[in-house]
Amino acid sequence: MKGESQRQAIRQRLKSETFDVAIVGGGINGAVAVAALSAAGYKVALIEKKDFASSTSQESSNLVWGGIKYLESYEFSLVWDLCRSRNELMRRYPHEVQELRFFTNLERGFRKPRILVFLGSLLYWFMGRFKSRPPRLLSRATIERDEPLVSTRSSQGGLEYSDCFLKDNDARFVFHFIRRGLRSGAAVLNYVEAREGQRGADGLWSIACVDHEAKASFALKARVLINAGGPFADRFNKACGITTEHQHIFSKGVHLIVPRLNQSERVLTFFADDGRLFFVIPLGSCSCIGTTDTRVTELPATVNDDDRSFILENINKRLNLAKPLTMADVIAERCGVRPLVIQGNAGDFDQEEWVNLSRKHVLECNRDEAHISVFGGKLTDCLNIGRELTQEVSDMGLTEGRPTKWYGEGDASIEQQYRRLVASLPWTDREWKGEGRSSDRLWRSYGDDALTIAERIKADPALAEPVIADAPVLFAEVAHMAEHELVMDLEDFLRRRTRLSLVVRHEVLEQSAGLKQAAQMLFGKDTDRRWEAYFKGRRGVPQKTRA
Ligand SMILES: Cc1cc2nc3c(=O)[nH]c(=O)nc-3n(C[C@H](O)[C@H](O)[C@H](O)COP(=O)(O)OP(=O)(O)OC[C@H]3O[C@@H](n4cnc5c(N)ncnc54)[C@H](O)[C@@H]3O)c2cc1C
Repeated sequence: MKGESQRQAIRQRLKSETFDVAIVGGGINGAVAVAALSAAGYKVALIEKKDFASSTSQESSNLVWGGIKYLESYEFSLVWDLCRSRNELMRRYPHEVQELRFFTNLERGFRKPRILVFLGSLLYWFMGRFKSRPPRLLSRATIERDEPLVSTRSSQGGLEYSDCFLKDNDARFVFHFIRRGLRSGAAVLNYVEAREGQRGADGLWSIACVDHEAKASFALKARVLINAGGPFADRFNKACGITTEHQHIFSKGVHLIVPRLNQSERVLTFFADDGRLFFVIPLGSCSCIGTTDTRVTELPATVNDDDRSFILENINKRLNLAKPLTMADVIAERCGVRPLVIQGNAGDFDQEEWVNLSRKHVLECNRDEAHISVFGGKLTDCLNIGRELTQEVSDMGLTEGRPTKWYGEGDASIEQQYRRLVASLPWTDREWKGEGRSSDRLWRSYGDDALTIAERIKADPALAEPVIADAPVLFAEVAHMAEHELVMDLEDFLRRRTRLSLVVRHEVLEQSAGLKQAAQMLFGKDTDRRWEAYFKGRRGVPQKTRA
């Protein structure tokens, strides 16, 4: 299969070449690093122990936002920077990163007067350089008229402001950068774990790797090592003998996914019983509710009944539902830990400081050891992290080539070409609930590659059929993924290259003949093994345990 030969070729390069930079971790931070550095002309390798974005970066709230809530803790410079990053992502990804209204209900007795919250939203709008629609005050009557789902029993009115969200998926967004890296010639592979690293007298890092697919070990050689291991970064630093001034502590965040609650493309925003912001976020044909914020020390973090009850109780109290939501309504669960950066030792962290802990990122650079650790950060911050890493590597004395573009959707001229091609196809460009038209979704998810996918449909119109009825993933995409997207496991396909397992019930997936056919296209003679590995032992809600 073409996909397998792609893997073999990358594997061979990882074993035999010496790289300028090796990146450990294929979440958003590793992904922007590989895209930015390879576009800057460096010879780069990236290894990921599971699948790309299979840890924190697939568990976010999908928001690209300036962090309005950090105004309350007076983190003005963080909000200023995040707003700038949000605006840049909005500009560079006009289809994928979309402005959305946050419809906020404030209850009587809320800790701040409504007018002060509204002034805060005006300040936020200013910090966002007025790039979004302005905020507006909402009376109780307006809330009842515009979003009758919102319970106004104890409402004092509210406000509406703008921020952005990822229309598709956080994990798919990460893959845009992985694809950029691959296209710029980087050697990028999933299911390869870095166990430990040593820097030799020759100034080269030698990283002991295990390829979980090939069941083989090898040493990866590079001049500079970037640890982008997210929550696992401290562990890997230890395995490399690197001591750092910063460390991570972990905040667990859980979301529950249920059938679509409000039909409008708005985020319903509340303050939960613990005083934190709490959202109902559109996710295609579903709604994503959450989140929680609990300190944990062990990885992987798991969803427990307290998390479930907290989310369901909070939402049931705040919506006018015909009948309260229960676990029977939950299609999927998401659970991740926010890796939060602190200075000093995680063991000495004062719990009192928890609520005010910053969500900033820190790059800790050890020039003597040619080593960089990435701490903290947000998806929203990703372009800054890519740029800062490129600067740090250059400051270490490695010469860069002529930089090329490493982010943004496909060029306008390619989009025009794609739209013309799509219009000429013998297919139905269907509208999908909460997702837009097939052609729009293909462009959002695949950028320039959408052109190749459309060509496949032209050659074989049967590929325009969806894999699962009522879910907008086409066989043409599967054919593309099988060759180009390093899909090794059914979960890679269902949860990260697409978000099918978030919006389609597990039982439906298991019974789907179309999914079986897609699995054949992805895994060939290995289909039964991959199918069993995914479905065996899982019941109902599939996403319960995540790092
Ligand atoms: C509940 C929740 C909600 C959030 N909401 C938002 C939001 O709405 N907007 C926003 O901007 N941000 C949000 N965030 C924050 C954002 O998701 C994270 O900051 C970001 O995903 C962290 O990315 P990362 O690359 O550092 O870590 P990860 O995504 O965890 O990636 C690290 C990767 O390194 C790999 N790895 C680790 N060790 C090794 C090794 N030894 N060898 C090989 N690979 C290794 C792991 O498998 C993992 O895939 C949220 C986070 C959470 C938990």
